[in-house]
Amino acid sequence: MEVHKTFKSTESRDVEVEFDSLAEVIFGMKMENHHLAYILAFLDSIKNLDQWFALTISEARAVPRELRFRHVRTTKSSCTNCSGSGYIES
Ligand SMILES: [Zn+2]
Repeated sequence: MEVHKTFKSTESRDVEVEFDSLAEVIFGMKMENHHLAYILAFLDSIKNLDQWFALTISEARAVPRELRFRHVRTTKSSCTNCSGSGYIES
């Protein structure tokens, strides 16, 4: 069963999410690098859970001519040299 959570503009985005209800993570276009690094490090920490295999990690990219966003698979991953303080892009 697929469930989408949408937020009203005034509603807090600070919500608790169960791991097993995660299907996709989409990075916003204007997210700060330290937030990306934090999320990637977190995703790394749950990599061994079964749920990982169903998880898609994407990035939103603008398609200006069509006034929309498309989601592409991310090439970013957590950096192992600085224990997740940064991320690498392949
Ligand atoms: Zn690093």
